[in-house]
Amino acid sequence: MKKTVLAFSRLSPAMLDALAERYEVIAPSPDKGDLDAQFAEALPHAHGLIGVGRRLGREQLADAARLEVVSSVSVGYDSYDVGYLTERGIMLTNTPDVLTESTADLAFALILASARRVAELDAWAKAGNWRRTVEPALFGCDVHGKTLGIVGLGNIGAAIARRGRLGFGMRVLYSGNTPKPVLERELDARFVPLDALLAESDFVCLVVPLSDKTRQLIGRRELALMKPSALLVNIARGPVIDEAALIEALQAGRLRGAGLDVYEKEPLAESPLFALPNAVTLPHIGSATRETRQAMAERAMENLHAALEGRRPRDLVNPQVWRG
Ligand code: NAP
Repeated sequence: MKKTVLAFSRLSPAMLDALAERYEVIAPSPDKGDLDAQFAEALPHAHGLIGVGRRLGREQLADAARLEVVSSVSVGYDSYDVGYLTERGIMLTNTPDVLTESTADLAFALILASARRVAELDAWAKAGNWRRTVEPALFGCDVHGKTLGIVGLGNIGAAIARRGRLGFGMRVLYSGNTPKPVLERELDARFVPLDALLAESDFVCLVVPLSDKTRQLIGRRELALMKPSALLVNIARGPVIDEAALIEALQAGRLRGAGLDVYEKEPLAESPLFALPNAVTLPHIGSATRETRQAMAERAMENLHAALEGRRPRDLVNPQVWRG
């Protein structure tokens, strides 16, 4: 008998077709009514869950009697209660590596856009303001040759650092749990405490996973340590920053600007950030290219197949549950 797979976010028709070749597939859809109700009805039958962006913990999974695996189409897994899944013996998988380069590209797009005021000046030109040559009040700042501080020199952090060091001749500082001697040699990077990184960097880029240790890692105190001429880029997760404190600092001009892809609450339909010309606000698109989303979907399906067919998934977040 075929196992049952529940898609807990919208998947492409091609992905649903591929899943349907092996499993009974349940794909909740807004056309069929309330999404939460459809999810709750299907959950007790599901052997596998696949998708992204739904909080899945003790409360949400209490009725998941048959569940063997949650295959997330993302590298970050902060929306899952890993402890609870492990306690229940449920595998959790993610999609590392395949999104590293495109997310690093996006981080660099935010660095360049904030420094050179790309979005702001694009809107300015389109509003018909370009009647004379641009005045110094609208000048940006250089990126090349500046100091780039990476908070979390993991896969994506290293890919951003590479772009900064090799493409833009930047000096690289980084902070994290452990020094990375190989990357230090490759990128001439220096491991420093977070406070020193904040004080010395012209661009601070946040690339840590969201956890109890990184929630509100950057608050009022940390923002005050940054140079007023510095720019803050967040492509990690919104709650890594105290967003109210950031908004205050941007409004008061205590920070030159911010390039943001993630927010405390998503989706974000309204925010004081939208009124700030020195904030570039993207709608969580770090990995949102056709090629990368396809690669993530394939990797998540590979993990799901392995788990449901008794093979060890390549990207097992909680290896303790694997009994071989
Ligand atoms: P990764 O390879 O696991 O790297 C994470 C890095 O964060 C590691 O180097 C780790 O340092 C560091 N770190 C962990 N806890 C820390 C702490 N308390 N303080 C300082 N550094 C800490 O992960 P990745 O693939 O680079 O992805 C990083 C995160 O980016 C993901 O978890 C996800 O939330 C986010 N992301 C966002 C998007 C987007 O669309 N905006 C796309 C992809 C990923 P050690 O190695 O020293 O432990």
